[in-house]
Amino acid sequence: MKKLRTALPAMVLLACALALSANAQGAAFERNPNGAGWGISVPFSPDSRADYTFELYLGSSTADALPENLLDRKEGVTASPVFLEAYGFDPSIPGTVLWLRVSASVDPRRQGLDTPGMREQKITLPGGCGCTGLSTYEQPFYYGDGTEKNPFLVSTPQQLQHLNNGRHLQQGQYFLQTCDIDLRGYDSDGDPANGNWRPIGYTVYPYDSGYFTGHYDGNGHLVKNMSFHLTLEENTAGLFGAIQNSTVKNLGVASGETLSASDIGGLVGAATNSKISCCYTDVEISGSITAPICGSMAGSLFSSTMENCYSLGEISLSQYAGGLVGVLWDGPNTVRCCYSLSALQGATAAGGIAGLQRGSYTMDGCYWLAGPLYAEGSGGVTPSGNYRLASLSDFESGEPFPGWDTGVWQFEAGKAPQLRVFLR
Ligand SMILES: [Zn+2]
Repeated sequence: MKKLRTALPAMVLLACALALSANAQGAAFERNPNGAGWGISVPFSPDSRADYTFELYLGSSTADALPENLLDRKEGVTASPVFLEAYGFDPSIPGTVLWLRVSASVDPRRQGLDTPGMREQKITLPGGCGCTGLSTYEQPFYYGDGTEKNPFLVSTPQQLQHLNNGRHLQQGQYFLQTCDIDLRGYDSDGDPANGNWRPIGYTVYPYDSGYFTGHYDGNGHLVKNMSFHLTLEENTAGLFGAIQNSTVKNLGVASGETLSASDIGGLVGAATNSKISCCYTDVEISGSITAPICGSMAGSLFSSTMENCYSLGEISLSQYAGGLVGVLWDGPNTVRCCYSLSALQGATAAGGIAGLQRGSYTMDGCYWLAGPLYAEGSGGVTPSGNYRLASLSDFESGEPFPGWDTGVWQFEAGKAPQLRVFLR
């Protein structure tokens, strides 16, 4: 019996050690499964004689275990794994590290028998793309491996531009934006005459192309103050120039302006076999006679889908101008549950949703303010289920549009429908 008593304190300490050795091998820094943000999941082996307190600090050593650096604290933990939330922590910023403290407390009934234990450990964030030798216009991704489960995190203009790098552009990788990105003061090539942004992915006449083939989740954030001024040689322009087999979602492009390209979109110049969802743009697009195709969201769609998107802003001087899409090319293309309040000025053929449609298409649940659904195209009829509204106040009635998902959209009197992902 005496022998057993002397062994027990060591067992509590052992349990504490187990928690940390498990962390070293199995803890995963990951998106919070219960809400926004990030955190760390720590598997451990609970000891029934102890309960545990886990604390997560921002910092690189025990000296940083200060109240102001405490990110999360969970007391009385008895079950594994425990998830510690890293509130306000952005793992895409290099040089920040975390510190985990695990304390095992003694059961009051066993005072004098067991010894409390405590261990601390630095948490090393895994991942990052590891690209080196980059120009000053790019920055590597510091977190993620490009998989759907563990996307590369994007938080700076330089990281956003890094999508254009050959190691990422056509690899079918996944990306997640962690904050709003303001391009004011940034220049992607050092030549302000081009504007500040080099579109991600491109096509150049006649046949040269480098499509972005990845999957980009804006996570309800914006890209602000984008501008570009390209030549006709660069055929497609937008935040993304040309995408293929790609998805873009939950992303807003605000306060942007674009000039002179062929296929211009606020978000995407040309999309092929791709899906754009839960995005919006508020940009000024100035085309020209040599800029025949402009859409507030996308210049051209080829066999692609756009849903739950909206656009504001203005397009001026274009041949085909669409409130959402310049031209719906070879289909099948689908545009559903979208609206446009874009002003269309000086276009040869301007449509509230599309400038020109040809090929097979589905448009359903689309709302716009001025002009026809599309300006030119086969059939010349408006499919049922699409509505030109008479005035802005019709958009702001707060009444849900029939068939629209109120889990995706918020309808509120006095406001046009808002995407909930941007309201968090
Ligand atoms: Zn890289």
